[in-house]
Amino acid sequence: MIAHEKLHEETLMAAKREKTATLELLKFLSQVEDRRTFAVVGYDSMFTYVRDGLGYSGAQASERVAAMRLLRKVPEVADGLKDGSQTLTSVAKLASHVRRENLNCQEATSLVLETANQTTEALEKYLLGMALVEPPKVERSKIISAELTRLTIDVEEEFMVLVRRVRELRGNPALPLSEVFRHAMKEEIRKREPKAPRDSRIPKEPSKENTEKNAAADEVRPAESGLKQSGGSGAELESLKRSRYISVRDRANTHSRANGACEYIHPVSGKRCGSRFGLQMEHLIPFAKGGASTAENLRAYCPAHNRLSAVAEYGKKKIKSFFRPRMNKPSAPSTEI
Ligand SMILES: [Zn+2]
Repeated sequence: MIAHEKLHEETLMAAKREKTATLELLKFLSQVEDRRTFAVVGYDSMFTYVRDGLGYSGAQASERVAAMRLLRKVPEVADGLKDGSQTLTSVAKLASHVRRENLNCQEATSLVLETANQTTEALEKYLLGMALVEPPKVERSKIISAELTRLTIDVEEEFMVLVRRVRELRGNPALPLSEVFRHAMKEEIRKREPKAPRDSRIPKEPSKENTEKNAAADEVRPAESGLKQSGGSGAELESLKRSRYISVRDRANTHSRANGACEYIHPVSGKRCGSRFGLQMEHLIPFAKGGASTAENLRAYCPAHNRLSAVAEYGKKKIKSFFRPRMNKPSAPSTEI
């Protein structure tokens, strides 16, 4: 058995290596965000990339992403992490404070230097004392059994007025909050969920090699966007076909093929993004290049992948001026952006 002193020394070395490794990870993450590598390899955000792609818990992923962003703003963070005067947790806490209070680089740097070597508790108190903006209410969800999750949220008076009104309208002053929520959420989903097409025939996803064929076919065939019913002249058909308007049916067909999840697939690994947030319709062959607004030529993409393909199509500079990039096609994995 090795002596206590030797064991301690080796443990110290391991801790030092861990700190260096953390810093190295943050530097890599910074590049992954800058170059939007997370989107190219099939993730909808840095958070999802770190959690699912790198295998951290949600809390660990948030800490790492927050710390990486502060490191970018305040390079001194690197020294703090290396010499142990800041920890990943303290840097993440500082990062949320900096973001919330909208501190500039200089203010953020002073804050990092002022708070070196503080314990987490001391740091929390310090930040609370400095906060001009009230820290956001923490929402918690805790699984308390196989069937039950306990939610803790802070709400404003207006919220409680709405709850009271729902209870009045439902004639039950003791209606549980969970019931109020359930109904409100069902109503929201009913309104927003893309409707299933009446004709449940869903077009098959075109394979890569027949995408071109489909595109060619689109040129000669009034695609399934209600053109057949129009029965108009060739010119009318052409102008309809060139419309940016996406019919309810094409939209619904795209959504049901996508199963409500982002359809971006990393061409190399085959990893599909699958994000369910903020899906937008994307033209596979850009509208500007003659792509039709039909389900065959549409993809449901999350905002990260919409942007990725827009950048691939138009270049980074041009896209910055776009509010909502829409037209493009999936980029090659090696696309440097
Ligand atoms: Zn996506």
